[in-house]
Amino acid sequence: MNYILKNSRVYSVDTGEFSDRDLYITDGRISDRAGPESLTMDLSGKFIYPGFVDSHAHLIGTGLEKMAVDLRNCRSMEDLRSRLQIESHLVRARGWDQETLGFLPERRILDRITSQPAVLVRRCGHVATVNSAVIDRFSLEALDGLDETDIETGVIKERALERLNSIVKLAPEEVEEAIRRGSVEFLKYGVTCVHSDDLHGMELETLVESLKRIDNIRVFEKIAVERPDQLSMVSMARNGETRFFKVIAAKIYLDGSLGARTAAMKEPYSDSPRETGVLYMDCETLKSIVERADREGIQLCIHVIGDRSLEEALKAFHGSRALELKHRLIHVQIASPEEIHRIADLGLTASIQPVFFDSDAHIAPGRFGEARIKNAYPFRRMRDAGIRMALSTDSPVESPSVLPNLVSADRFFQRRDSLEMYTKAGYCLANREERGSLLPGDEADFFVSSVNLLDGMGEAESEITFVDGKIVYHTANRQLYTK
Ligand SMILES: [Zn+2]
Repeated sequence: MNYILKNSRVYSVDTGEFSDRDLYITDGRISDRAGPESLTMDLSGKFIYPGFVDSHAHLIGTGLEKMAVDLRNCRSMEDLRSRLQIESHLVRARGWDQETLGFLPERRILDRITSQPAVLVRRCGHVATVNSAVIDRFSLEALDGLDETDIETGVIKERALERLNSIVKLAPEEVEEAIRRGSVEFLKYGVTCVHSDDLHGMELETLVESLKRIDNIRVFEKIAVERPDQLSMVSMARNGETRFFKVIAAKIYLDGSLGARTAAMKEPYSDSPRETGVLYMDCETLKSIVERADREGIQLCIHVIGDRSLEEALKAFHGSRALELKHRLIHVQIASPEEIHRIADLGLTASIQPVFFDSDAHIAPGRFGEARIKNAYPFRRMRDAGIRMALSTDSPVESPSVLPNLVSADRFFQRRDSLEMYTKAGYCLANREERGSLLPGDEADFFVSSVNLLDGMGEAESEITFVDGKIVYHTANRQLYTK
């Protein structure tokens, strides 16, 4: 189907302005004139934006969260009990936060609530609690001690949780259902491309077979690895690439999360002096992955939240092909001015989540303490130092909704710059051709909204989202615009 979108205000990332023009979509691309048999839609002055790029999120995790028992804003024992009263051979729940809940939902508590096997993943995705039924059924005793996992209390952390996920594997049907539900969550906010990290709890083959079938959203996949030899999975996955699914990088976890106090810090947490977090690997292992990635021309995306893991990453990237491959840091929640200069000097890029600033506001001062907090969320300084950055939500850790993230980003950047970091920069960091102005020849990935994102607040859902020139999401009143 070809289209003519009349009376629209089209946003250009290059000029930072709207222009009143008709948009022509022919054979999946923007064209300079109407194609044959075009359907005309009158947008009556609504806004059109280039499709947003979420530069770090989890497409399948976002869908799985929709399929799991939702524990966000769960505030009491009674609330938890009632949410977990479902019939299932394995209860999967996600979204709890010990600060909101008022307690840690550990093994003995869960045993009193349900006798069905239950896995409750914290909102950050880095920690889970399980009941005795899970421990017995999957023989989890062997995980005791790994990354401070404690089977006695049923608290499973970091790599032990990754192991648990690979024991409690997802079925291919569950993966497909998660992709279907997850993609809608992004498309409804106008996100047409996701740098996704999904190789968790399934075989590579299951992942690739499922991603190959996607035709409604663009997925730039990052393959999670822990050892140099696993980089071969990147080229294996590339065999399944399509127009919609590309493999852009390997992902490495170097530490955990701030909320769970598993982010690796140089000095102990101010609100828990015995804890310094969890470092996934030493500098030598990381260095050997970097060296092999450089040889094979693979971009690395490294999850770093604490200052200790940042330090290890900076050492490992020293002398690497960072500038050329755009090796990337994901998160960077604390960095000193000196460390920021080193990031810039190495030519590293970064995917950041401004919305974390607001959602962590109730814990960050306690975790970091007074002396360190001045170096937390150093996004403004990173941009001033010339570091190429793109925005992201880390969904399902946060909602994939773009406007709350833009509003949080207003603390650090001009709104126009944030829009650039939510579109063009997402292609740049993926080493792809950059675009963001919907010019003739560009892929027709965009969305229609009645909100002016240059000054909007609150929530903004897309009214119609196009990917590859096709309508992939629309609100119920779509007919209103069709003539
Ligand atoms: Zn993530």
